[in-house]
Amino acid sequence: MLQLPVYLDNNATTPCDPRVVTAMLPYFTEIYGNAASRSHPFGWAAEEAVDYAREQVAQLIGADPKEIVFTSGATEAVNLAIKGVYEMYASKGRHIITAVTEHKAVLDTCKHLEKLGASITWLPVNQEGLINLSTLEAAITPQTILISIMYANNETGVIQPIKAISDIARKHEVLFMTDATQAVGKIPVNVNTDGIDLLTLSAHKIYGPKGVGALYVRRRAPRVKLVAQIDGGGHERGMRSGTLNVPGIVGLGKSCELCAAETATDTQRILPMRNRLEKALLALEQSYLNGGDAPRLPHTCNVSFKYVEGEALIMSFNKMVALSTGSACTSASLAPSYVLKAMGISDDQAHASLRFGLGRFTTNEQIDYAIHIITEAVNNLRSTSPIWEMYKDGVDLDTIA
Ligand SMILES: *Cc1c(COP(=O)(O)O)cnc(C)c1O
Repeated sequence: MLQLPVYLDNNATTPCDPRVVTAMLPYFTEIYGNAASRSHPFGWAAEEAVDYAREQVAQLIGADPKEIVFTSGATEAVNLAIKGVYEMYASKGRHIITAVTEHKAVLDTCKHLEKLGASITWLPVNQEGLINLSTLEAAITPQTILISIMYANNETGVIQPIKAISDIARKHEVLFMTDATQAVGKIPVNVNTDGIDLLTLSAHKIYGPKGVGALYVRRRAPRVKLVAQIDGGGHERGMRSGTLNVPGIVGLGKSCELCAAETATDTQRILPMRNRLEKALLALEQSYLNGGDAPRLPHTCNVSFKYVEGEALIMSFNKMVALSTGSACTSASLAPSYVLKAMGISDDQAHASLRFGLGRFTTNEQIDYAIHIITEAVNNLRSTSPIWEMYKDGVDLDTIA
């Protein structure tokens, strides 16, 4: 029997893989030492577990374990990276380049710095959600200290041309950071071949626990320096103080190990399901795949059903299928997604969009069910919609206020 509701909101968060939970459990009850306690075996065992997790995380992204700083999640890692670079390199310049479709963690951090005197260039994106490389290069000045462009977008799955961006950053000797929270563990990410200087990731997007993540900080060519944003004790090489969340870190390590071993086979299973879902939904009249022509994450799609209100649509089936319109962080507000709007998508179409996030535990049966429920919901809402009727009568709705 299908368990309801079907969960298709894996870009908001993923369930913990049971193997991750199993790995974490001893660190609550038996191996409970403080990883900073150097004077006895309880502390040594905890420290050993943290070191091992650091290797597991580093391995997944091709880094050195010394380049991994554990944090409470990607939001904190983003804050540490951007604010830490800003404080460290302010004497060189105060200019940061980012894009309008970034996650709120990046946008709000940059806005905060803007108030403190930073100059921020907010790059636009094209219809597919991609930044323009010439625009990026033209924005660089001698005062530019950081380029922060996300690896893959959480709402559309659109993947930015990371290598090309890092080539430009290198050429101008500007640090390149990427919020890779949605990409790590889903597609191959390698800090060296991709030319990344700072990278953020989060356990709860890759079948690990909530409240733990990491920042990658390059140590060689170039050696990136940061000003700590949380002081007190000098943990994590002075970059992030505070007693380490040992069970969480063990969980993050295990989830990275599982991703390194299983992502390729997971994708072989998930991608055909995602494509089948897309095809079925696009077969409906006036439905659109947002970012559909750009390279995209294999487990994500964002589909608009014109002349249907997205929130009403979700409300009509959310006891059966769980997903969101736009991102979890902004779905509290009824404003249309700023990501879709930045892609030039009309308010109407942005309001009518659903984001699907498939995952490791998604089944074909669940996808069949979701297709059925959503098709029915769209047709139902349209059958009672005066706007749909007008559209069917040939009224040009775009010209009506
Ligand atoms: C989820 C997410 C974050 C925030 O991660 P947390 O660990 O929840 O703080 C940042 N960026 C992107 C792209 C995300 O998807």
